[in-house]
Amino acid sequence: MVAGRVGEGDGYGGYRTRLVETLQQKGIRDLAVLRAIGTVPRHLFVPESVRHRAYDDVALPIGGGQTISQPWVQARYLELAALTGRERVLEVGGGSGYQTALLALLSDAVFAIERIPSLAHAARAALEASGIRNVTVLVGDGTLGWRPFAPYDAVLVAAASPEIPGPLVEQLAPGGRLIIPLGDRNAQVLTVAQRVGPDVRTSTVADVRFVPLLGEFGFR
Ligand code: SAM
Repeated sequence: MVAGRVGEGDGYGGYRTRLVETLQQKGIRDLAVLRAIGTVPRHLFVPESVRHRAYDDVALPIGGGQTISQPWVQARYLELAALTGRERVLEVGGGSGYQTALLALLSDAVFAIERIPSLAHAARAALEASGIRNVTVLVGDGTLGWRPFAPYDAVLVAAASPEIPGPLVEQLAPGGRLIIPLGDRNAQVLTVAQRVGPDVRTSTVADVRFVPLLGEFGFR
C-alpha cells in the first residue's frame, strides 16, 4: 500500500471529489475504494486529447483501439476484490495503468500484464509520475498469468473472455478471488470466481461490455 501523497496538491482535487460523489450516488459504498479514487490523478493516465474528460464517469480512448474503463465499473471491480492492503494482485489488461494505480493503493503488490507494448510503456510512465512504486507492469499474454509471482490473492481481468483462462485459476491462492467479464465479443456478465478448497465457485454480478481478451486462453 502507498501512503499519502499521491495526487496531493495537483489542482485536480475538486474534480476527484466530484467523481467520488458521483460514484457514491451510483451506489459505490466501500470507503477505501472511494478514498483511492479520490487520490489517484486519473488525468495522468489518459491521452492529452481527452484529459478534459478524465474525471467524468465514462470510458475514454487510450490508443491502440483500447479504452480506460468507466470509473464506476472500476470501482465495482475493486469492491468485489474486497482488498485489505495485504494482497498480491494480478491484473490482466493493464491498459492505461489507472486501475493498476488504484489497486496499488489498496493492496501490497500489483503485477499488471498488458499485451500492447506502447500502452504498457505509457502506463509505467503515468504510475511513475503518480509516485506509485508497488507495481510491476509486464508486457505479454495475460491469459497465461505470470507464474514467477504466483499465487495471487486476487486476479482482476479487464477484458472480455469466452471462459475463465485455466492458468489464472491455477495461479489463484486458496480463498482468492478472480473477477472477469465472461461472454461473447458483444456482451458479457461480470463474474466473480473464488477458489474454495479444490473447487471454484462462481457468482454473477452485472451485465457489462468490455474489449476482448486476446490470447491463448481468451479470444483467438
Ligand atoms: N483497466 C484498464 C485501465 O485502467 O485503463 C483498462 C483496460 S482495457 C478495458 C483492456 C486492456 O486489456 C486493453 O489495454 C488490452 O490491450 C488488454 N488486453 C487484451 N487482451 C490481453 C491479454 N491477453 N493480455 C494482456 N492484456 C490484454
